[in-house]
Amino acid sequence: MRPFAYTAPATLDEAVSALAAAGPGARVLAGGTTLYDLMKLDIETPHSVVDVRALRELAGIDTAGPGELSFGAGALMADVAEDPVLLRDYPALAESLAKAASQQLRNMATVGGNLLQRTRCGYFRGGPPFACNKREPGSGCAAIGGLDRGHALLGGSEACVATYPGDWAVALIAFDAVVDVAGPGGTRTIPLAELHVEPGDTPAREHTLAAGEIITRIRVPVTPVGRGSTYHKVRDRESYAFALASAAAAVRLDDGTVAECRIAVGGVATRPWRCPDAERELTGAVLDERSARRAGEAAFAGARPGAHNGFRVELGIRTVAEALRIAGERAGR
Ligand code: SF4
Repeated sequence: MRPFAYTAPATLDEAVSALAAAGPGARVLAGGTTLYDLMKLDIETPHSVVDVRALRELAGIDTAGPGELSFGAGALMADVAEDPVLLRDYPALAESLAKAASQQLRNMATVGGNLLQRTRCGYFRGGPPFACNKREPGSGCAAIGGLDRGHALLGGSEACVATYPGDWAVALIAFDAVVDVAGPGGTRTIPLAELHVEPGDTPAREHTLAAGEIITRIRVPVTPVGRGSTYHKVRDRESYAFALASAAAAVRLDDGTVAECRIAVGGVATRPWRCPDAERELTGAVLDERSARRAGEAAFAGARPGAHNGFRVELGIRTVAEALRIAGERAGR
């Protein structure tokens, strides 16, 4: 047991001050479903934990519009997944949460914390003696040349090929979501597409939050394309597993032709991965098996498989195509 300081501020301002005072190495505690896990593995060793669960500023779900959906970062995954407006008008968002974890985890985990969950790379979680540039910068990467069946096909580097494990962020990125953050420098808004970063030479840096910043809210622009959407997730077993490949797809049809579409893939990239080439490929086409397959191929055109994960290129292409089939059915209703 490593001792650490624990504080439970009553307001957002107090939380920001507590984080600033604690300095580097402090961690925010929301649902705790990732943090406790990694502390028990001795991967996260914070000297200070700031508990934000009681903050009213992080609460609330507002899907009544008119211009946007708004989710407090502290809202529970279960509550957002079961929101009736989301289930009806943005099934991809609801499904991405429902398929992300067991009911028990969804009852604890928050939608803000979920965005920042860390990779499931076994070498990262396993600790020493495995080399891991993310855990210990400069030590190397045991996954490259090692067992990389679950590692990234897109966005990897010579330093790290760890997959971003989340589902919710993949669906959110397809809908142009933004996140509001608060920190020592005040408040600001970051497009979700700019929150996560590819590993490059610095795999330990996973996001663009500044020191001491807390995600306070997630906002999604209202769009009719949400009705024809799905989050399709393929994994080793039917439930409670991370994606081998997943796809968020949304389409709006005009007489069978794709007037608008959104495609993002998960479980296959180092960050939530939007697929603009696939969207361009499909827009204006008749949505059928062949065009859906072409969109999937466009999504994975830049894939760089390693030793054991090549099968997930074809799996990913088929996952995108199947997601588009489901989304198209829903859009045509
Ligand atoms: Fe570490 Fe990334 Fe390599 Fe996994 S893939 S061992 S997280 S550097």
